[in-house]
Amino acid sequence: MTQTARSTTLGVPHGRCYPLSIVFTVVSPHLDDAALSLGATMHALTRRGHEVVIVTVFAGQTDSPLPPSEWDAGRRCRTAGEAYDRRRAEDLVASRRLGARPVWLANFGVGYPDVPTSAEIAAQLEPHLRHTDVALVPGWPLDHTDHAAVADALTVLQPARTVRYAELPYALYAPGRTGNWRRTTVSMADRRAKLAAVLAYRHEIRKFGPRGRAAVGLDRLLHRECLAASGAGADLLEDVLG
Ligand SMILES: [Zn+2]
Repeated sequence: MTQTARSTTLGVPHGRCYPLSIVFTVVSPHLDDAALSLGATMHALTRRGHEVVIVTVFAGQTDSPLPPSEWDAGRRCRTAGEAYDRRRAEDLVASRRLGARPVWLANFGVGYPDVPTSAEIAAQLEPHLRHTDVALVPGWPLDHTDHAAVADALTVLQPARTVRYAELPYALYAPGRTGNWRRTTVSMADRRAKLAAVLAYRHEIRKFGPRGRAAVGLDRLLHRECLAASGAGADLLEDVLG
């Protein structure tokens, strides 16, 4: 844990003590993954006064003259830069609704040239994870190539306190869940904040297909935020969320 001079310790159950304001860094492969997977949990943390930073690995380049990928072309943009300008604007709205601070790494994912290697992603993430207290990272199902590349990078980095999160909506219909997972404790207000944040990405959600849209529309998404149940970071989160 990062203990700084500004930190004031807070007693919590089980005899452990943590800084009054803990820094949580959520590593998000794309510009909607953190909100979809952990929106309510992030809101539960920020309303308790903790700091949440969302570091998005594939946040694109807003000045890119490249043509948009097949995925981004649905936005009727002339360039990839225009598409990512709009996608980042959506992310800013969603992050504000959750009380989180977005950080955007200027990479393109699959569908574009020059996709970064896992080693390059690790080098970019390292400064953002160096001073965090807890890193929340994509853990399962990691089916998307970009998500798997981020997970590989984090295997190299191994932040001190890491908690893996289930990737929503994909985890709702992926077979063969492995390991122990537990749902986070969130309130109705947290769920409402998540819904508001997720709706900021409506252009993306439209492209999820029927299953993804149904998951968002039926509030299963709001009730299924899960974290890996083991490790010091998981204990800390359980203590904080109660
Ligand atoms: Zn994604």
